[in-house]
Amino acid sequence: MFSNVPTHLWRSYRWQIQNRIKDIEELRRYLKLTPEEEEGIRLTKGLYPLAITPYYLSLIDPEDPQDPIRLQAVPRKVEVDEDIQGRGEPDALREEGDIPGLTHRYPDRVLMTVTTFCAVYCRHCMRKRIFSEGERARTKEEIDRMLDYIKKHEEIRDVLISGGEPLSLGEDKIEYILRELRKIKHVEIVRFGTRLPVLAPQRFFEDRLLDILERYSPIWINTHFNHPKEITELSEEAVDRILRRGIPVNNQTVLLRGVNDEPEVMLELMRALLRIKVKPQYLFHCDPIKGAVHFRTSLDKGIEIMRYLRGRISGMGIPTYAVDLPGGKGKVPISPNYIVERKGNSFIFESYSGELVEYTIDEYP
Ligand SMILES: *Cc1c(COP(=O)(O)O)cnc(C)c1O
Repeated sequence: MFSNVPTHLWRSYRWQIQNRIKDIEELRRYLKLTPEEEEGIRLTKGLYPLAITPYYLSLIDPEDPQDPIRLQAVPRKVEVDEDIQGRGEPDALREEGDIPGLTHRYPDRVLMTVTTFCAVYCRHCMRKRIFSEGERARTKEEIDRMLDYIKKHEEIRDVLISGGEPLSLGEDKIEYILRELRKIKHVEIVRFGTRLPVLAPQRFFEDRLLDILERYSPIWINTHFNHPKEITELSEEAVDRILRRGIPVNNQTVLLRGVNDEPEVMLELMRALLRIKVKPQYLFHCDPIKGAVHFRTSLDKGIEIMRYLRGRISGMGIPTYAVDLPGGKGKVPISPNYIVERKGNSFIFESYSGELVEYTIDEYP
């Protein structure tokens, strides 16, 4: 698709961002759009905008209208179908609170959203509500208000920086946030929720960013691979460069209808993540977000996938399947039930292969 682009530009984050595909005419040059997509792009304009990096677009098989990358990146009319999207809410998880950009749900952890900008506007985004605000980074005053809150709340040990795409901020701004957070004694770890390893891995070919992340250790990265096709030489290189700086990379997948709701696809993804040394942390059930409701599967589908993974891949490759409760009540882990029957301390377990095994578990008297 972009075979004429010289390597030094293809490997440049700036080039990838500056050359994002943002309108229907441009996209038509690369894909034969379906009527559902044509109308989708028109109807979502200004509400759920379109932007795709050339790199991410190049992963799409143009012959396949159901390509998993395409489904995540190209708008469709169903995003504004009221019958379907009326079942969702813009902010189903009640992230918006008193301080703009700050969500303090669990006592020890806080979520900061620092920009509405993203490299690619994922069609399943849980923060689709902020797309229509345009591409805007938080001001220094807004950041300072969040920092002030964190300073005053000594129970906060873990700061999760997300967006939009937090690592799209300039290095100076990233360094400012990290330097100020490190001045707060009770903040132990900082996490970035970033999808750049997937959408524009070239960001991590820049030493200046990596130098900053390394300097303010311990920093963790949570990224968001959803499909084995997203694991490429370039995303692997990005992950490798991050890991070499002493920054662990964990993954949060979202279970998406049509994209990764086949047990085989999920198994392949988890295996590929382990190969590039990314730990699958969460498999999230898709939230009822207005504009993304059509990606939801049943809960049984997620349980079926979890059952399939067990026994087929190392425990390291098995994420925690979790549902985020509505109204901001937090995440709940979901697991297939392996205890079939119980009498006192005598259990009948179901093994990974489906065998029933009796086992009495007594405490030492
Ligand atoms: C998910 C989430 C966190 C982080 O939870 P972990 O289980 O530690 O990854 C923190 N705050 C909010 C608001 C969240 O939604």
